Amino acid sequence: MGRFVMALDQGTTSSRALLFDERGTLVALDQLEFPQSFPRPGWVEHDPEAIWQSQLRAARGALERAGVAAADLAALGITNQRETTVVWDRTTGEPIHPAIVWQSRQTSAICDRLRAEGLEEEVRARTGLRIDAYFSGTKVRFILDAVEGAQARAERGELCFGTIDTWLLFRLTQGRVFATEPSNASRTLLFDVHRGDWDDFLLDALGVPRAMLPEVRDSSGIFGEADAGWLGASVPIAGIAGDQQAALFGQGCVREGLAKNTYGTGCFLLMNTGSEAPRSQAGLVTTVAWRRGGRLEYALEGSIFVAGSAVQWLRDGLGVVTHAQETEALARSVPDTDGVYLVPAFVGLGAPYWDEAARGTIVGLTRGTTRAHLVRATLESIAFQTRDVMDAMRVDSGIVPEQLRVDGGACENDFLMQFQADVLGIPVERPAMLEATALGAAALAGLGVGLWRDRSELDARLGAPTVFAPRMSADDRERRYRTWQRAVERSRAWAVDDETTGASA
Ligand code: ADP
Repeated sequence: MGRFVMALDQGTTSSRALLFDERGTLVALDQLEFPQSFPRPGWVEHDPEAIWQSQLRAARGALERAGVAAADLAALGITNQRETTVVWDRTTGEPIHPAIVWQSRQTSAICDRLRAEGLEEEVRARTGLRIDAYFSGTKVRFILDAVEGAQARAERGELCFGTIDTWLLFRLTQGRVFATEPSNASRTLLFDVHRGDWDDFLLDALGVPRAMLPEVRDSSGIFGEADAGWLGASVPIAGIAGDQQAALFGQGCVREGLAKNTYGTGCFLLMNTGSEAPRSQAGLVTTVAWRRGGRLEYALEGSIFVAGSAVQWLRDGLGVVTHAQETEALARSVPDTDGVYLVPAFVGLGAPYWDEAARGTIVGLTRGTTRAHLVRATLESIAFQTRDVMDAMRVDSGIVPEQLRVDGGACENDFLMQFQADVLGIPVERPAMLEATALGAAALAGLGVGLWRDRSELDARLGAPTVFAPRMSADDRERRYRTWQRAVERSRAWAVDDETTGASA
């Protein structure tokens, strides 16, 4: 068996391929961007063919850069932008419509209809999700309506629906394997997360024929062989997970109570809740983390819309810094924010508030406020928003998280990570290997073919993390957090008319 594993990391704007060796060391990376299409305001589409071609070229590129042959690969893993929806012809493999991207709002009318039919509670109980254009189910409905004759063809079993994992798997195996796994299936609005199977009630509500759905398998284990024609030798595809769940696995959050946060444009927080699928009362979604050895594990998920992009706003909107990295020294140049709190609700607030009418707010300004205070308040807001979601996770699951593992571009800011530990009162761990998403897919695949016996064998080979231990007193922490909550209140329900709605970020 080969000693390398390749992760195919199919993202929203680019396709990447990352090659790891058996120590979990990143050996090579290749990345190709592909075009975005915005056919109308709020609509986002991709060409599935461009996704496939860019992914294939990235895979070949990574092998080339490393000087590694496909025969040296033990396995391929796939991780992908979630919820993005493709429908294609089962025989020819040709898509019948552009892929509808997770961000696209083009199915909001279908969501309104489902809500009007009173399905909100049924959907939540079965899928753990809210009715939102974000998830795949309404996108399938949209495509079946948009393409003449598609409904009848789908019912005859002539069409396939898949999220991006399934689309790549189908292409890699030349149409021999039509399958997915529960971390992706749980984002479709069509999957009962408790039973771990497609849900007839929801399929019926959306008019999606079962005949077009992929088989649901374990996230780790052999799905099939990538055709020898693609990379030069056939390679088992042995691990699949949606990007956020792959990051959870890559961060080693394989026990109940372990959580990770990815600090990118926004933040994505997931906490492993073990074999329990808690129903969220606090504005989170319940999702499948993965299925291994036939056992489903669950996670609570919360997303923050504006995190790193608030730092971009400091740079591009206000011009108070020229590089994101400068924010660290500026924040440290003052002992605190001097009472300034900034709520970056530029596009409303996500979890746990779900307030579309909230808008960005700065409170506590005085004549003594400087740009350093503003910069510091902006970084602190990222940590406070994370605390909001972590608190919601504790309420929903009854689990007290022991620590938070971090990745994403903004986690390189040591000030932010220390403040995060302070405001949570638990340690923050930044792993040596920051490519958590790709590592997660590689780990699922390597475990799927037995390159590692178990997760701990791989963990033992990964470098030691940087740990940020909380230093703030409990009094200070709670006082500041309460003030943050007051600031959030000031930001809420602001955009009620044309004047206050403002431009979106
Ligand atoms: P995405 O994958 O969402 O594009 P990345 O994981 O690449 O995001 O992270 C980039 C984001 O992190 C940007 O919004 C940027 O402003 C922010 N960022 C990058 N470096 C720092 C830093 N040192 N301090 C604060 N924010 C940073």
